[in-house]
Amino acid sequence: MSDHYAVFGNPVAHSKSPAIHQAFAAQCRQQISYQAILAPSDGFAASVRRFVAAGGRGANVTVPFKEEAYLLATRLTSRAAAAGAVNTLLFEGHEALGDNTDGAGLLRDLTHNLSFSIAGQRVLLLGAGGAARGVVAPLLEAAPAALFIANRSAKRADDLVQRFAGLAALSELAGGGYPALAGHSFDLVINATSASLSGELPPLPAAVVASGGLAYDMMYGCGETPFLAFARQHGAARLADGLGMLVEQAAEAFHLWRGVRPDSAPVIAMLRSAAPGPAARR
Ligand code: NDP
Repeated sequence: MSDHYAVFGNPVAHSKSPAIHQAFAAQCRQQISYQAILAPSDGFAASVRRFVAAGGRGANVTVPFKEEAYLLATRLTSRAAAAGAVNTLLFEGHEALGDNTDGAGLLRDLTHNLSFSIAGQRVLLLGAGGAARGVVAPLLEAAPAALFIANRSAKRADDLVQRFAGLAALSELAGGGYPALAGHSFDLVINATSASLSGELPPLPAAVVASGGLAYDMMYGCGETPFLAFARQHGAARLADGLGMLVEQAAEAFHLWRGVRPDSAPVIAMLRSAAPGPAARR
């Protein structure tokens, strides 16, 4: 008998989650089935209820439902509560535990896969949407010297700074619009905007990535994004896309559901062979 899992999104056909979780299950000898479910924009909760009634044990949640999943959860992990968004659900009886594994996935990709040590570094986070909100707390826990959040709508960046100010004991935390970046450079610049989805680039100063720095785009699967091309042209030493984060956040979800931690490296390699990333990644 297989246990049933699914990813809910809209759109969802492009999702790599079924391939990732089926690879994890084979590796860990776990009997699971995993499907992608297209939920109507106004029908996320009803879709989840149907899935649970049919025996569903857990779910991943992607755009645009992470905030609805936060509201649907009957219990939250501390990292989901901090993020205000849920990307992983675990169903137990009448309870739905909501977790957010995006931040852990990003941190694991940066520190383990890319060997980037955040402590003492100057970090710039671009964007203030759901993905950015999920990674601020774990970034601050890694004790950068400074974390600056820049967003097109400066108010949303300021709101994030207010929300997480209490976690910034070891780091300078500030935020604002893109003009505030003039004259500043950072050891790590993370693009958590959806600008790359539409082939656009936030208005960044040329020297925003410090010499020797790492440019990281959460977007994946489309070759070199405008952000990574910009960073390469302006001297970034290292470029990375978000494929590693995607697999690592999935590994964290799999661990929550099944109690075993899969080895993400062969799964990243499998996906990478199908969709090459930026040349300088590793
Ligand atoms: P949201 O829609 O919640 O937020 C979008 C953000 O992008 C906002 O800050 C918005 O600014 C900004 N933005 C959009 N267009 C532009 C533009 N043209 N120029 C500058 N800023 C822009 O999206 P998410 O936070 O959920 O996702 C962001 C990205 O992260 C997506 O590409 C997604 O695929 C990726 N992602 C990757 C993951 C992974 O595992 N690798 C996990 C989660 C997300 P404003 O507030 O001013 O509108």
